[in-house]
Amino acid sequence: MKWSAMTPEQRNALVAEKVMGWTPKECNGEIGEQPISPDGWACQKCQYRGYWGDDTTHAEVPMRYSEHIYCAWQIVEHFRIHRFDVHVGSAPLQYDVAILNRRMGGKGYTASAESAPEAICLAALKAQGIEIEP
Ligand SMILES: [Zn+2]
Repeated sequence: MKWSAMTPEQRNALVAEKVMGWTPKECNGEIGEQPISPDGWACQKCQYRGYWGDDTTHAEVPMRYSEHIYCAWQIVEHFRIHRFDVHVGSAPLQYDVAILNRRMGGKGYTASAESAPEAICLAALKAQGIEIEP
């Protein structure tokens, strides 16, 4: 797999499945109005959007782990809860993330990327044993 050749949706789904234990399924979220457009509806759980009159049945959209820091932070918490140390460092041109397993003598998985969410995703995939090319 090549990270740079994947769409954000593919990246999000990969991280959701391999790191967060998510599985593709029909979404059971409530349907409500879109925050801005009155022509459309939005799922209140996964943010999937459609127009009024469309079938509201939809596949659950995974969290946007590779795009938004508030989604990527769920990954940081996931590893923290599982007793890993997570270091997120910033440098002028990149973010550097290290996920360390103290129980394994501090075995570490590191990744760098231009965005913090991507660096977190890449380090998390490595920690799960998923090999991915930049
Ligand atoms: Zn949904």
